[in-house]
Amino acid sequence: MSTGIIKSIHSDVDIPQCSLFDFLLPPSTDHLHKIAFVEATTGIKLTYAQLRAKSLELAYGLRKFLNIERKDTVLIISPNSIAYPVLLLGTSATGAKVSLANPAYNHLELSHQIKDSNVSLVFAHPDNIPLTKQILSEIGWSETKINQRLISATDSNSSGCLSYSQLFIPDRQFGIPEKFDGQSTHETAVMCYSSGTTGLSKGVMTTHYNIIANLRQLDSMRTYVIQKNDVLISVLPFYHIFGLVVTMFYYMTHEAKSVLLPRFDPDVFGAAVEKYKVSVGSIVPPILVLIANTDIDKRYNLSSLRILQVGAAPVGEELIQKLSTKFNDVITVPQGYGLTETSPITHKIPLEYAKSHSGYIGRLIPNTSARIVDENGMDVPGDNKASGELWVKGPQVMKGYLNRPEATAECMTADDFFKTGDVAIFDKKTQLFKIVDRLKELIKYKGFQVPPAALESLLLSNPEVKDVAVIGVYDDKQATELPRAYVVPQKDSNVNNHKWCKEVEDWVASKVANHSKLRGGVKTIDAIPKSPSGKILRRHLRTLAAQQDKAP
Ligand code: AMP
Repeated sequence: MSTGIIKSIHSDVDIPQCSLFDFLLPPSTDHLHKIAFVEATTGIKLTYAQLRAKSLELAYGLRKFLNIERKDTVLIISPNSIAYPVLLLGTSATGAKVSLANPAYNHLELSHQIKDSNVSLVFAHPDNIPLTKQILSEIGWSETKINQRLISATDSNSSGCLSYSQLFIPDRQFGIPEKFDGQSTHETAVMCYSSGTTGLSKGVMTTHYNIIANLRQLDSMRTYVIQKNDVLISVLPFYHIFGLVVTMFYYMTHEAKSVLLPRFDPDVFGAAVEKYKVSVGSIVPPILVLIANTDIDKRYNLSSLRILQVGAAPVGEELIQKLSTKFNDVITVPQGYGLTETSPITHKIPLEYAKSHSGYIGRLIPNTSARIVDENGMDVPGDNKASGELWVKGPQVMKGYLNRPEATAECMTADDFFKTGDVAIFDKKTQLFKIVDRLKELIKYKGFQVPPAALESLLLSNPEVKDVAVIGVYDDKQATELPRAYVVPQKDSNVNNHKWCKEVEDWVASKVANHSKLRGGVKTIDAIPKSPSGKILRRHLRTLAAQQDKAP
């Protein structure tokens, strides 16, 4: 037993053992008449009662027409929409697992997730239907199967597929949500994809219990954040664990009205805040940049905003201060921290520290403990100076990676600590943690994961590339990392050839999703620095990048 375990100073909370559906939408509560979601772009609204009824009608249809049940996995590929909560909770009510994909995925990324999570049904936004159809056909689905099991994630069936609402069976008697009581609460409810510490994207098995635990943990700190009558904005994508749990589900537990945005667009965001008098939102650092650095507050009335919680990627202290000053300290910008693997939150900053300690990710939430360890797994002293890898333990830590016991074993200790791959310091006096570096390969572009291994394997398939390593370089102006490739060309003559580098950059751009493009550029190098065991020494490349970017 390690002596360096840091425990949450908050009292533990009880975690109900039930299904996510029963937790979020119990049958008889007095808030069912309230509006749960409103779609900013169309104004379409959904009350809690309608959400419950439609989800159960969909669940019955999925069971009756398509035999969807506990053993199945259903993929949703869609931007945020008024249909999304119905698709997700309706599927979950059948007992099936829900795999969530980024609608910006291209062929490579989407086919990986479809194959990996072994889906038996797909809900796709009409824009994603042609590519999804092609992939399903490539993996051997017959035309009949595609026609039955590729369903439009909107009310329209113009894409040639059935619409999800055509599956509704309005017979309440049969719309009974599947039970996940006792041990079965530890069955997988949702799978978002994450590369974790290393390698390609993996299905993160997030259980009913994990999510309910995280919601209860956050809820017990509700005095810090959400108040009655707050109007919330859901701009983070629901296919990412932050958007899913910290916005969609967490807002539901507050019986709040949540304004849905399909993606971040400054004007749509500004207009929605003005129209619905939004007071609280969760955002990522690049959105903070836009609010802090543009005249959006002159064009729209943002005076209702009270709290903009920021997380999902590193955020600079100066930026937070800049935004607070711009709004005369009316808006507080507290940080939260977590990972897909921790469902997601492990740390949250109390509001009273949000300004004075804006660079900190906060304190451990209830039922959570942590260690900060050196490279030998020994605890470093908690004195705000010594840094080490952050390990966390709690009921929100995932069950594991789907079908990857080795990868799961690599990131878990025997006593159930999860190794985050982030480097942190801890201040004993305030009990606050700060992230100071990242050990793992992962790059985050505007909160989206870019696994270097996927880009490296793609680049190695290019006959002109002999060797490659991809790292993240930080762009202050946009408050995000940008993926950059260091490439050893097959032919020496290509060295320092700007045109060739641009061609490689464009070639990658034609094959990956928008967020994975090599926006940090392509640079040639004589040899990729590697350890004797062949591991890429990314720290060397990060130092090289910093020198190159500083040079005039
Ligand atoms: P994801 O699994 O996509 O949510 O990515 C998790 C990773 O995002 C963490 O391991 C961190 O590297 C990074 N991250 C999330 N929140 C923060 C934060 N507040 N500060 C610094 N890094 C963060």
